[in-house]
Amino acid sequence: MLSRSRNAKLQNGLALAGLLLMALCLVWTQLLPAPDRVARDEDAPRLSGPIALVIIDAGHGGNDTGAIRDHVREKDLTLDVARRLERLLKASGIATKMTRSTDETVSLAARAAAANEERDCVFVSIHFDEGKRTAASGVGTFYAARQAAPVPLVASWFPFVQPASDKQGSSFESQSLAELIQESLVMKTQAINRGTRAEQFYVVANVRHPAVLVEGGFLSNNDDVMKLTREDYRQQLAAAISEGVTRYRVLVSERGATASAGQP
Ligand SMILES: [Zn+2]
Repeated sequence: MLSRSRNAKLQNGLALAGLLLMALCLVWTQLLPAPDRVARDEDAPRLSGPIALVIIDAGHGGNDTGAIRDHVREKDLTLDVARRLERLLKASGIATKMTRSTDETVSLAARAAAANEERDCVFVSIHFDEGKRTAASGVGTFYAARQAAPVPLVASWFPFVQPASDKQGSSFESQSLAELIQESLVMKTQAINRGTRAEQFYVVANVRHPAVLVEGGFLSNNDDVMKLTREDYRQQLAAAISEGVTRYRVLVSERGATASAGQP
């Protein structure tokens, strides 16, 4: 009798444990998100569609100070604006990758490589200028007229769309990105508009994705330096670049949608 009652207790216990396990499983599956809602990278949730990643290149760093004016160093300004841009882009759901996030020396080749190992990204290099004339002032955005073997950005998302010619490869995309960023920069900062210009800077010429280099002001100009030492002004610069990138994303998405609608 004794052993039978022990057996019954054991069976009851097992049944209870089974029930508990089932209940736990049910709760567990309810709590887990559906597979398609799982973010690829929890730190940086990526939006779908073209250009889900922005490579942010803070110019100079480490041994390379860049332009310098009294205690104001270009390498510190570029890193500050890069960090601000990183926060703004992440907040709007766009993943970012910094070519440097501390005061360290990074070669130009490593900066370009950081972009070239990625797909569907754009590259934004941040710099400040130094002019021979102290009167030189304002903001400008550069792109390379000739870039390393372009990655057809739209084609990678819409396989049936091919660039009309080589001219509409990366450099055409880079020019569009430069124009949108420049427009936002001038609107937000009210700085003198130095426009967009083609220039074979190493970092933009050797990136296979749309790539631009922003010159956010002159350390050789008194007014520019005064503005650049202000946090709110550096935030405006970052916000303008972020806005330009966002507008470029919209442009590429719309172009893709139009091309898709035009298919038989
Ligand atoms: Zn520079």
